[in-house]
Order: sequence, then structure tokens, then C-alpha cells
Amino acid sequence: MRDVSKFLSGFRRFQQNYLGEQRVLFEQLVQQGQRPRALVIACCDSRCDPALLTDCDPGDMFVVRNVANLVPPHVQATYFAATTSAIAFAVHNLEVEHIIVMGHAQCGGIRALMEHKTPDCNEEELIAKWLGIAEEARQQVLREFNDKPIQMQANVCEQSAILVSLENLMSYPWISSRVQEDKLTLHGWYFDMRHGELYEYRPESGVFEVLVDNLEVATYQI
Ligand SMILES: [Zn+2]
Repeated sequence: MRDVSKFLSGFRRFQQNYLGEQRVLFEQLVQQGQRPRALVIACCDSRCDPALLTDCDPGDMFVVRNVANLVPPHVQATYFAATTSAIAFAVHNLEVEHIIVMGHAQCGGIRALMEHKTPDCNEEELIAKWLGIAEEARQQVLREFNDKPIQMQANVCEQSAILVSLENLMSYPWISSRVQEDKLTLHGWYFDMRHGELYEYRPESGVFEVLVDNLEVATYQI
């Protein structure tokens, strides 16, 4: 695609919808600033825009996107500051009440982590370094699903990596204290784009369970 006219006509529709029809909302956001209630940590993947998936308005969610929706542990916070500074801003300045780590099916980053190829250029080294945050998830998948096909391993790892990120979030004292004081709730969500469903990690059962099912599939099955 050499021209960007699709994006420009989209911006025209945005003007009509938000600067026209939703003028009150936008005036509020301009005059009073943002006050999102949730921080969402999502993948850069072009198919997983959290605001689009949740049909949110501007101002509803503060979003950090990175390869494979990872959260570095506290000990590496300054090394991976692009993600951690955004988390700090959301928690410290915006005082969000929820942090949602939103993983997804068919994640190219997690697939690359599972394939574990030796990087042969600077670009691949950068990606491998970042994906190393989820190494613990890869090791767990290898222990339990070593004889399974790579795509299945990757799908399991997509969910395990979300749990690593949730664990890493709790390694920040200013996050764990807010969680303990009930000011902040952490969520692990998984968007299964194959079936159009949203899953949530439930600590009670230790697995991801359907949070929002696909009505069309349910109707079709009946
Ligand atoms: Zn991804």
C-alpha cells in the first residue's frame, strides 16, 4: 500500500464522530484532561487494538503496546523503561483502578519465543532480548508440552506469558501495595481471534475461562 488515503478518510470520520457528534465528550477530555480507569498492556499486533476490541471511547483506557504484551520484572525496570515508565505513569499519576494484560492467539512474538532461533542480525537480537522476559513461560511449556506441535506450544505459551507478566507486575512495590490495599486489580485477558472470544485467567481454577463468548458461534452450534 503506497498511499495513506484510507487513514486520512478514517481521520475524517473520526472528526465527524468525535469532534461533531460527541462534542461534549471531547470538550470534557480537552478541558479536564484524561482520567482513564484502566491501563491495558497489549501486543503491537495490528489485529489486537484494545480500544477497538472493547468498543471504548477516547479517554476510557490508557494503553501500552509492545511485542507480545510483556511486563519486565522490577529488577529490569530501568532497562526496559519504555514500557515500565508508561505503567508507572498510569499507576502513580493517573491512579488507574485496573491493569489488564491482554494477550492474544496467533501471537507472532510468542511464536518466535517458542521457535527460539539464534538471532543472526541486530534486529533479531533486539526482539530476542525483549522476548526473553517471557523465558520462564517458554521453559514451562517445554517441560509440559515438549512433544506437541510448535503452534500448540505457542498457543499455550501465549497464556503462560500473560501469567509471567502478572507476576512481574506484582514485583513492583508500588503495584503490589495498591493491590493489597484493594485500590488496584490485575486482570489477565486472552483474545482468541480464531473464535472471536475473550478469556480471563481465574486464579481459583488456575486456567483461562471464557469471559465473553461468541454469540454467533453459540447460535450456530444450537
Ligand atoms: Zn502478539
